[in-house]
Amino acid sequence: MKADTLITGISQLVTASGNGPKRGKEMRELKIIQRAAIAIVSGVIVWTGKESEWKGEAEIVVDAGHRAVVPGLVDPHTHAVWAGDRLADFEARTSGLSYEEILAAGGGIRSTIRATAAASQDELVALGKPRIDSLIASGATTIEVKSGYGFTPAAELAMLETIQVISQISPARIVPTLLIHVPPVSAANRPSYISEVCEELIPEVARRKLATAIDVFVEKEAWQIAEAEQFLEHAKRHHLAIKLHSDQFHSIGGVELGVRFGALSADHLEASGPDQIAELAASSTIATILPGVSIHLGIPAAPGRKLIDAGAAVAVGTDLNPGSSPLFSTSEALALSVRLNGLTAQEALVAGTINAACALGLKDIGRLEASCSADFLVLHGSDWRELVYTLGRNAVRDVWIGGKRVQE
Ligand SMILES: [Zn+2]
Repeated sequence: MKADTLITGISQLVTASGNGPKRGKEMRELKIIQRAAIAIVSGVIVWTGKESEWKGEAEIVVDAGHRAVVPGLVDPHTHAVWAGDRLADFEARTSGLSYEEILAAGGGIRSTIRATAAASQDELVALGKPRIDSLIASGATTIEVKSGYGFTPAAELAMLETIQVISQISPARIVPTLLIHVPPVSAANRPSYISEVCEELIPEVARRKLATAIDVFVEKEAWQIAEAEQFLEHAKRHHLAIKLHSDQFHSIGGVELGVRFGALSADHLEASGPDQIAELAASSTIATILPGVSIHLGIPAAPGRKLIDAGAAVAVGTDLNPGSSPLFSTSEALALSVRLNGLTAQEALVAGTINAACALGLKDIGRLEASCSADFLVLHGSDWRELVYTLGRNAVRDVWIGGKRVQE
């Protein structure tokens, strides 16, 4: 066998094994190869194993210097493109106002929508690209980015175009999602807005392939079940995959709706109870938890431990956004899931790699095995557990995407 690139000097190569999401106990089953090597051809892994067992040739040999290697992380939930800031909200909330009170007062998310609408595409790219870069530096090699601060169909399209521009200049694999985020302020305008989204926005996004999935914020203060159902039906008709913001503050049926529509993932789940946990465990929908929100807003953490014990497939993301999760590190999201959601180190790695890839409907990423994209991280240390142990310091040394080192 002849490889373009051979990575040697790997103290431990640590990965989930086999296609498809890992659920329940499977989330603790990692394959660990000591003193390993990875052989790459045209950006794809062709062989992994013990370095002493490699029998082929390689054009370039890169010595990892006795450091641990894990799959590139997948951040399955971000809102990385926005303008303005929420520093005044942060101050108001930490002085006693609730997120919903700020929202009801016309602050919160609506101030982000106004600032984002007022920004040009160049400005939004200039704001969004460095955020993506910091996620990459923290180990993310595939990053989902949602629209949702556009509000009008034209502004949503503009946001998705901005995400497309960032995707063309970023070394990371960017996965765009159309997010139907907040309803019009006046209830009288809801039906016409819904029909605009269903009849114009969704078909246009699908036709221009500006997003691979739709996401709807299902919540007491946002979209109701019957409304969300209309969006999902139209999305399905146009072959968009489905994701949902569900059970963030109240469990109003978002999880059940997602499961019924075969959603790729139901995200948030802070307010999910035993019924929602059982629904997810019995479904193919990935349970995506977002510990950055719990630490930033002080809301209860999603029941990660209970979900896994019930047999669900759990993924973890940053939910990077200005209002509820200013978390610019994907590896730190995993580290927080261990502390806040009760995941083990092994479960957190699986949640941030293969399960997060499945939450985006992607195959052949999120694990280090033959035929997978050569997306991997060389850590600073020789023990992979530093990735989820370390707080406030980057445990990631080198980031490789598609067989190329994008950061060292
Ligand atoms: Zn979100």
